[in-house]
Amino acid sequence: MTPVRRTIVGSAILLTLGIAGWVFRAAAEEYLSGKVWPRPKTVEPGTEPNGPPSDAIVLFDGKSLSEWEGGEKWQIQEGVATVRGGGIHTKRSFGDCQLHIEWASPAKVEGSGQGRGNSGVYFMGNYEIQILDSYQNETYFDGQAASLYKQRPPLVNASRKPGEWQTYDIVFNAPRFDKDGKLAKPGYVTVLHNGVLVQNHTEIEGTTAWDAAPKYTAHADKLPLQLQDHGNPIRFRNIWIREL
Ligand code: MG
Repeated sequence: MTPVRRTIVGSAILLTLGIAGWVFRAAAEEYLSGKVWPRPKTVEPGTEPNGPPSDAIVLFDGKSLSEWEGGEKWQIQEGVATVRGGGIHTKRSFGDCQLHIEWASPAKVEGSGQGRGNSGVYFMGNYEIQILDSYQNETYFDGQAASLYKQRPPLVNASRKPGEWQTYDIVFNAPRFDKDGKLAKPGYVTVLHNGVLVQNHTEIEGTTAWDAAPKYTAHADKLPLQLQDHGNPIRFRNIWIREL
């Protein structure tokens, strides 16, 4: 083939490819799902990092535990609530929710295992995400910080040092029961501990008792959130919840 013919053939091929591409693009149409969705509500994110979004219920803002039954027992000082004189539970009831909570175990290390910096977040008063000083503190894995107590250890140990503030961001899906009281759908929980994923849509097998295997007993769709007094002066701040 002469150089001139080669150029002509090459140009013809490029032209053909170009036209094919144009035809293909012209034939393609945007995919639309056709599903009719309600407009997502507008929510103002928190103004501070970890601050409550506009649709959150603030459960502790550093000043008052008035959202809590028994809150008057706990010490409130300099924006921090400290466990004292028994557990507390919310006056309101919650089902599916997103919870943000900040806590710190005592800076001065006392005790070991389950006796060191123990508290807990009980969804519906029944399902505990463990609070524990798990910084270089051995205990059974499904009882360490951010475990679903006696059911599932955290994926990793993301604990900060004793005395340092830690965060839990938790998505809780309540279990569902049918009209005969039988379990229709188990609960699920997703937990970020200090921003690290530690429970990834973990199935809840039932109540998280210290002295019994997990089991489900039918209960209301919404129940109070509870914070445990396990005899250790755990501190709390910035607690808010969004109903889902
Ligand atoms: Mg506990």
